[in-house]
Amino acid sequence: MKTINDFNFKGKKALIRVDFNVPLDADFNVTDDNRIAAAKPTIIKILEDGGSAVLMSHLGRPDGKVNPDLSLKHICNKVSEVLGVKVKFSTESVGPIAEKAVAELKSGEVLLLENLRFHAEEEKGDKNFAEQLSNLGDIYVNDAFGTAHRAHASTTIVAQFFPESKCFGFLLAKEIEAIEKVMRTGEKPVTAILGGAKVSSKITIIENILDKVDHLIIGGGMTYTFVKAKGGKVGNSICEDDKMELALEILDKAKKKGVEVHIPIDVLAADDFNNNANTKVVNSNEIPDGWQGLDAGPKTLEIFKEVILKSKTILWNGPIGVFEMESFAKGTIAIGNFIDEATKNGAFSLVGGGDSVAAVKQFGFEDKVSYVSTGGGAMLESLEGKTLPGIAAILA
Ligand code: AMP
Repeated sequence: MKTINDFNFKGKKALIRVDFNVPLDADFNVTDDNRIAAAKPTIIKILEDGGSAVLMSHLGRPDGKVNPDLSLKHICNKVSEVLGVKVKFSTESVGPIAEKAVAELKSGEVLLLENLRFHAEEEKGDKNFAEQLSNLGDIYVNDAFGTAHRAHASTTIVAQFFPESKCFGFLLAKEIEAIEKVMRTGEKPVTAILGGAKVSSKITIIENILDKVDHLIIGGGMTYTFVKAKGGKVGNSICEDDKMELALEILDKAKKKGVEVHIPIDVLAADDFNNNANTKVVNSNEIPDGWQGLDAGPKTLEIFKEVILKSKTILWNGPIGVFEMESFAKGTIAIGNFIDEATKNGAFSLVGGGDSVAAVKQFGFEDKVSYVSTGGGAMLESLEGKTLPGIAAILA
């Protein structure tokens, strides 16, 4: 796997795909600069080598049209501040204006190109557009995990114009390593904790992961499809009746593969989907009509704790309860604490995909786990076992 450590950028212009799709407030101020900070090590290494950096990204969904509200010029000062280097801006992402700005760029300087998605060709993965982009650098660096699952011009197609001079940035390399650790090289026992709302959205992940893990913890809304499929009463809990057969097949496959599946035995049930609803702890297979399970119960959390604390490699995807409501966030917080403890004892823990990152940030677990993925969709597709086009293009 070629990373930027395999290149010396002295006198070279690096064309870097970053993910600067950051949130802006009504006055166009960046409200969260994590994504910019995440790309900093890559950019700084290139500058310290004596190279220059041409940064390209998308922002929002302009759908192929110029939209001043989504101009990357709004974030230029913030990028300068985070990098500690004055960043220049090109009002075009390809063509003569961009080419002139690149030609004038000196060693140690940084240029930010305008929003790639102002051109419809970007998301179409247009080869011509990718070739125009390739004129803007000597070495192509992909450091955008958040868009690595898209075969867009700047994330994938452009790589073919750099057959000998393309590589991963530090951030993308770290993401790949973290996934490898969970899926292939991690120390056993390996445990996956899968929560979230529905079996249907997690099914491909579950099927792929059964070959990699020793323990599978199921939580969140998915619980009730499994419980009902096994003959339990789930009251008004979220349940996909058409996925019950699939749930039984998963349990059967897991058994054959020697994977221990842990499904909640008790839950915190409520008489309404509401933070102020009446609640009681009940067995997960005896939920009364009119009540719904919204969080894991205390006996369940004890079992989950035991499994997590003996694990050496942990993957967490999806909240264990309706964490957005304080009354039903305890299970998700408890899981975060168990993973924190396991990590302190030497386990490797990866959190990623969809809502789990939001939960981890909300409860302050970000610095307590080994790695928090920067890509929602890209992470989910990796866990499904798919080869991401942006990664494959560098390896090709
Ligand atoms: P996902 O995007 O599939 O990871 O699902 C995340 C959502 O699942 C969160 O918004 C949670 O509130 C929701 N969720 C977790 N547990 C339950 C539950 N028992 N009933 C309904 N929704 C749940």
